[in-house]
Amino acid sequence: MSKFAEPMVRLIDSLKKLPGIGAKSAQRLAFHILRSSDEDAEGLAAAVRDVKAKLRLCSNCNNITDVDPCVYCSSATRNQRMVCVVEEPTNIAAIEKTKHFNGVYHVLHGSISPLHGVGPDQLRISNLMRRVDDGQVDEVILATNPTIEGEATATYLSGQLRRAGLKVTRIAMGIPVGSDIEYADEITMLKAMEGRREL
Ligand SMILES: [Zn+2]
Repeated sequence: MSKFAEPMVRLIDSLKKLPGIGAKSAQRLAFHILRSSDEDAEGLAAAVRDVKAKLRLCSNCNNITDVDPCVYCSSATRNQRMVCVVEEPTNIAAIEKTKHFNGVYHVLHGSISPLHGVGPDQLRISNLMRRVDDGQVDEVILATNPTIEGEATATYLSGQLRRAGLKVTRIAMGIPVGSDIEYADEITMLKAMEGRREL
């Protein structure tokens, strides 16, 4: 027999399924929720429900959105002809933070990883090709991660995207700002040398 009442066990079991939450943390969170106000608990439950009921992927760029097309794809002030390709929806926030990119996005929802059995077919690439083939795009910026998977994805896409008049670029990678080149590993140093620019 369990030491907690059934509704509590159910909440703890649900919380345990979250990434990084073990049995102890799940129990602590469940008791926190039990002690919180009706309003807070109901707010949490409603937020969880809404995320599943109201959010979907933008049919144009695969960003997570509550309106289709998403705010970027429907924006009249953004350059719809410059498309930045990222692995995950969360990567968009990192680029938006710079306040220097005024193009739009395309989210792949993953990267090519033969080790994990992820091939190009499992990524959301087809609607990117459609945008390019419809002549809607002048430049595709490949902003996948500087990992083996991200590099493989960028290489694959650059091959697929070869079209007359389409510019395909890769974000520069290298030494993080504020660090010392003495501590850079050789791949980072190599990328930094490759990405050099004229001053
Ligand atoms: Zn969109």
